[in-house]
Amino acid sequence: MRIDVLTLFPEMFAGPLDASIIGRARDQGLAEIRLVNIRDHSAERQRIVDDYPYGGGGGMVMKPDPIFAAVEAVRCGGGCRERVALMSPQGSRLEQSGVSELAGYEHLIIICGHYEGVDERVREHLVDEEVSVGDYVLTGGELPAMVVMDAVIRLLPGALGAENGAATDSFASGLLEHPNYTRPAEFRGWRVPQVLLSGNHEAIRLWRREQALRRTLERRPDLLARAELSEEDRELLAKIKGNHSA
Ligand code: SAH
Repeated sequence: MRIDVLTLFPEMFAGPLDASIIGRARDQGLAEIRLVNIRDHSAERQRIVDDYPYGGGGGMVMKPDPIFAAVEAVRCGGGCRERVALMSPQGSRLEQSGVSELAGYEHLIIICGHYEGVDERVREHLVDEEVSVGDYVLTGGELPAMVVMDAVIRLLPGALGAENGAATDSFASGLLEHPNYTRPAEFRGWRVPQVLLSGNHEAIRLWRREQALRRTLERRPDLLARAELSEEDRELLAKIKGNHSA
């Protein structure tokens, strides 16, 4: 996958995308990230990229022409499956399903706003979707862009390495993930649940599924209501709810 990030502050991206799983995925060529400075696409001599809002009011608005020019310069020209995403608190809130969809494209173009945001014509005539990382306002789209890239790149085949990879993660199956433990088996008197030490794979699988259902019920009933449940899940849930009311 190729990702072009359009930003006024490319220097903000140094670090977070270089280390660990994302760094390795880039080294392996699974993801190629290019930082595009929107300022380089300003036609003006002083490389101006923002201006006062029509109608008055505070703050600066990012001009449309450098953003259009930057997107047009990096487009693959119909030769690939491409998506233009604008980071915006007014977009639809990013969820794992949206991340999976983005991971299916060959080319992502991510536009980072700053100041008061971007001229409305960018949203109307250039972008395919607007992505929000939550109901709060940040100073710029750079951190949201990093969130999107991290979430997308870890889904690319080969990025996680581990056999079961992202399949059991929270949200992937519509549920929160079961709790995880590692050594030591006893730490400050707190023991790892016995079943996990039993070597009984079927018992472990059932315990994990029950835990996943239990935590989703307790913490995110909204997710549980939308999840696809098997017959076994329903039986486990009935047991959990029975214990709750007991
Ligand atoms: N005045 C705008 C907010 C501008 S914040 C409004 O009220 O809608 C400046 C830039 O930060 C935005 O253009 C966007 O790119 C980014 N940004 C801020 N909060 C965000 C969020 N929750 N999700 C995604 N991008 C966000």
